[in-house]
Amino acid sequence: SDAVVGRTALVAGLGVSGAAAARVLLASGAHVLLTDAAQPPVVTELTDAGGTWLGAVEELPDGVDLVVTSPGWRPDSPLLADAAARGIEVVGEPELAWRLRIPGPDGTPAPWLAVTGTNGKTTTVTMLEAVLVAAGRRAVAAGNVGRPLVEVVTARDADGAPAYDVLAVELSSFQLHWSSSLAPAAAAVLNVADDHTDWHGSFAAYRDAKARILERAPVAVADAGDPVAAALVVAHPRPVTVTLGEPAPGQLGVRAGALVDRAFAADPAGEHLMAREELQLPGPHNTVNALVAAALARAVGVDAAAVRRGLAGFRGGAHRNELVATVDGVDFVNDSKATNPHAAGASLAGYPRVVWIAGGLLKGADVDPLVAAVAPRLAGAVLLGRDRADVARSLARHAPSVPVVEVPSGDDDGMAGTGVTAEATMAQVVAAAAGLARPGDTVLLAPAAASMDVFRDYGHRGRAFADAVRGLGTRA
Ligand code: ADP
Repeated sequence: SDAVVGRTALVAGLGVSGAAAARVLLASGAHVLLTDAAQPPVVTELTDAGGTWLGAVEELPDGVDLVVTSPGWRPDSPLLADAAARGIEVVGEPELAWRLRIPGPDGTPAPWLAVTGTNGKTTTVTMLEAVLVAAGRRAVAAGNVGRPLVEVVTARDADGAPAYDVLAVELSSFQLHWSSSLAPAAAAVLNVADDHTDWHGSFAAYRDAKARILERAPVAVADAGDPVAAALVVAHPRPVTVTLGEPAPGQLGVRAGALVDRAFAADPAGEHLMAREELQLPGPHNTVNALVAAALARAVGVDAAAVRRGLAGFRGGAHRNELVATVDGVDFVNDSKATNPHAAGASLAGYPRVVWIAGGLLKGADVDPLVAAVAPRLAGAVLLGRDRADVARSLARHAPSVPVVEVPSGDDDGMAGTGVTAEATMAQVVAAAAGLARPGDTVLLAPAAASMDVFRDYGHRGRAFADAVRGLGTRA
């Protein structure tokens, strides 16, 4: 806390991680100023604890030593641009957490095992957490996955010692953009595909933000199957890649139906970790995620038996390829978490004949290559959300004979104030999809887009989908 005691910090954005940052700063003896576009309820608690609420500000007040920004704020937003112009340091909550880590009994803070990538981050860090716990470590998944890092790095057990031995840390490109000194014990870039280019300004800037996770890590992990991610580790002193094929020396991969480690094993031929079929999550991308989680755990000395126990027991999370119900021979699958074209591509590849529910906010991504790739699998498509015309145009080009239904949704369709709820919109979408599906087909919600034009978040979208599907079931 020497890093902040007596200094003045401005916390910009009071979401889950911003509020946690403010709490920890106040507890560490900093002067804390608070700002946000609107006044969230948490302001009462934070001002009671000694913080000063400034309201919405576009200019940096005098006397600020450090700005802690929420990941959603763009570097060109007026306040952050003002801080940059005045040479005041701007950090994200992970960087703040890194500086506030408390030392363990041996004098060193708990190591971080860090994961970034366009897709698969949450799955991988939760797999990693399971493996570390299976190895008897006091581990927790934190960061972008939901649990703020500042909370976890300062948490103490009943004896006053740090509560965790090791952290499975999920970092987004936004958080990495606002980080400068993180040095994880090992770090992984799963993949880098078109996403968030509107925020970062270009694909190159987005990729470079992701690459920052590797800069100070002694071990750099990537999926060899992703050319951009693999290129990021080539020049690293200790690159480790994972492959769905036979592993070469320095890789983890799949040999004769088993996950095999040839990067951290004593035997140059490799060490058997587990049978691939013991993994509970479907799809090749989840085998990649499991191999990356295994690589990170192995980098801190976890044995093969614990890798196996952790991964074989792992069941996955909500809104990620969840089978909601089978109605009249049609499977309804919720992959609301497929919020960009790359994720939707992995999802669609898992099913032979799909009625695809897509659309929402594309965030500057080009959906055309995805539509070209999945066109042969499509039995139909139902489109919703603000950017659905982009998807419709690509479908007309690559799948002209596939029936497409568009459902007006969101404020851009003049729906504001009409009382048409997000749930009613989704019910219409699901009914249209059911109408296009034949027994044996899969109706797949894998929107390739963010949800906030119509829904609160991807969870809200996924729940609305599941409710609408259950509504179909009772009507039938
Ligand atoms: P993130 O935390 O990066 O958003 P999740 O683990 O929540 O990633 O997965 C999001 C979606 O991305 C999943 O629903 C799935 O469709 C897809 N996905 C998961 N892992 C991968 C991967 N390794 N490559 C491509 N797509 C993936």
